[in-house]
Amino acid sequence: MPELPEVETVRRQLAPVLEGRRFESVEIADGRLTRPLDPVGVARELEGERVREVGRRGKYLVVRFESGRALLVHLRMTGSLRHARAGTLPDDPYRRAVVKLDDGSDVAYRDVRRFGTWELLEPEELRPYFERRLGPEPLGTLSARRLAERLAGRRAPLKAALLDQRTLAGMGNIYADEALWDARLHPLRPAGSLSSDEVARLHRAVRRALRRGIARQGATLSDYRTADGSRGSMQDEFRAYGREGEPCDRCGTPIAKTRVAGRGTWYCPSCQQLDRAEAPVGTGSSGSDASPP
Ligand SMILES: [Zn+2]
Repeated sequence: MPELPEVETVRRQLAPVLEGRRFESVEIADGRLTRPLDPVGVARELEGERVREVGRRGKYLVVRFESGRALLVHLRMTGSLRHARAGTLPDDPYRRAVVKLDDGSDVAYRDVRRFGTWELLEPEELRPYFERRLGPEPLGTLSARRLAERLAGRRAPLKAALLDQRTLAGMGNIYADEALWDARLHPLRPAGSLSSDEVARLHRAVRRALRRGIARQGATLSDYRTADGSRGSMQDEFRAYGREGEPCDRCGTPIAKTRVAGRGTWYCPSCQQLDRAEAPVGTGSSGSDASPP
C-alpha cells in the first residue's frame, strides 16, 4: 500500500509533466472513485482546469489548479498513476480513469482493488479537509518536541499511534515498522510512555526511514509503480518489515512477527524490548486511544 515515500515519488515524477498543462478531456470509468458524486459530473468539472502545482499532503496527491480548486488523489491499496506520451498508453483492464492533457499526453489511473479516491475540492475546502484528517508532515519542520506532544498521554501502542494519520501524516505499515526497528522501540510500547531520549530517537528514525524510501523510489510489494511504470527498490532494504525469521541486521536475532492494530508487525525481540509492566491493556487488539474517564 502506497505510503508517504511512494506518493512523494509519484508526485516528483508527475509535477514536471503536469504543471502548466490543461486537462483537455477526462474520463472516469469507475463510480467508486468519486463516490458519492457522479463520475461523469466530476470529469466535466475537471475539464478545462489548468494545473498550477502538484503537491502532496500525507498520502494524498494534491493537484492544485489555477482556479484555486484542488484534485485530491488517494491511492489507498492498489492505486497508481502513469504518465504516457501521446498514443503510448498500454491497454490495461484495471484502468479506472484517464486525463488527456493539452500537449496530447495522458495520465492514467489504475486500481485493481478500487479503494482509491478522487475528490475535487473548492478553494475554501482544502484547509479544513486536511486539518480534520492529518497531523504534521514528518519531513517538514516537525521537531522531536512536537512529536512528543502528539504522543503525550496516549495509551495506544506506539505502532497504532504511528499509523493514525492525525499523529503524523503519511506513515503506514512499512515505514512504521522500519522506523521502530531503527529507533529500537517495541511496537506495543504505550505511545505516551516514551522518554525524551526515546522520542528523539523515534523522530530521527521516522525521518530516516521515509527519506530512505524516497531515495529508493518507494517499495514495490505488488501493485505500486512509479509514474513512469517502474518499480521502487526499498523492498530490497527492509530491516524489519516482512522479514520474519531472518536475522536482525543489528544483532542477528530472528525477526519476530505479531499483530498490532490489526496489522502484521515485524520487530527484533532483542533490540526492541517491551518491559512487561508497560504492556498496554488489551495488547495489540485495538488501534484506538483509550480516553480517560
Ligand atoms: Zn536485533
